[in-house]
Amino acid sequence: MKYRALGKTGLDVSTIGFGASPLGNEFGGIDPVEGARAVHLAIDQGINFFDVAPYYGRTLAEERLGAALAGKRQHVILATKCGRYDSDAFDFSPARVKKSVEESLRRLRTDYVDLLTAHDIEFGDREQIVRETVPALRELQREGKVRNVGISGLPLKMLADVAMRAQVDTVLSYCRYNLIARDLDIWLTPIAEARQIGLINASPLHMRLLTAAGAPAWHPASETAKRIGSQVVRLCQKHGVDPAALALRFCLMHPYVSCTLVGMSNAGEVERNLLALEMEPDAELLRQIEQMVELVKNSTWRSGRPENSDNAA
Ligand code: NAD
Repeated sequence: MKYRALGKTGLDVSTIGFGASPLGNEFGGIDPVEGARAVHLAIDQGINFFDVAPYYGRTLAEERLGAALAGKRQHVILATKCGRYDSDAFDFSPARVKKSVEESLRRLRTDYVDLLTAHDIEFGDREQIVRETVPALRELQREGKVRNVGISGLPLKMLADVAMRAQVDTVLSYCRYNLIARDLDIWLTPIAEARQIGLINASPLHMRLLTAAGAPAWHPASETAKRIGSQVVRLCQKHGVDPAALALRFCLMHPYVSCTLVGMSNAGEVERNLLALEMEPDAELLRQIEQMVELVKNSTWRSGRPENSDNAA
């Protein structure tokens, strides 16, 4: 396993991080015993960063991850989130955030988390995030319940703006840097790098769109992006290359991102994703993919309040 500094947090995180949303059945029902095996194998193989949220499976992912980490808590860097509780239930108020962390600590069977992230901040009021939510997270840090403080979301300009105005240690972005998207590097990477904010890139498989199984029914990408995603998968298969491994490998080559978070729920996925660490990507195949995705490159979807969108005036 390879490790990188997570900004100025003092943490060295594995370049592949364990995304625990599939443990909450977000991509379909899973076998919880197999899910726990995936967690244990990941730890044995050196993956030390685990990301979860109360939202994933509406607390189920935290429950399952907490159970799987029993006796192993000290071996991992544990990140959870606050502020998002359902597809349309958000509360970034200091009171809810404080209650939320207590609930998460109980489910995760621990007395602190290494990182607490305000989850999908584009659904909140931007001024509240800057003036109330992040300061509330800092207060939890002073109390020792939280070691570091971060934000996550889809629109890059809002993440960049909040990162410049509030004191955050990390920013988590998803679906903005992978085989079909690169705009993370336009809007966010330069700011994170200049301020030495830890940058976490999630969903390297574009939430399964870049795998043989294809995008789940709820995937918000356009039909064109899904069609081109499946063309990329077929092209890789024609070359005898595992599309998921190539997609992950591509993300791991990013020069600044500390950790690429991939969602996993069984030992086979952990094993296959570890192979990406050593994979030598075929430059000609990457060039063909680049051409193939041109039409949908950097295309995204609406998420959150209109005023927080990347297209807002
Ligand atoms: P992803 O791109 O990592 O894809 C995960 C899906 O791919 C799952 O269905 C998984 O079973 C499957 N998969 C994993 N490895 C595979 C392999 N080798 N071959 C075939 N299929 C494979 O998407 P994700 O899970 O949404 O993102 C990763 C993690 O990042 C999440 O679990 C979560 O922890 C975090 N995340 C956070 C936010 C946020 O804060 N707003 C948003 C998205 C993701």
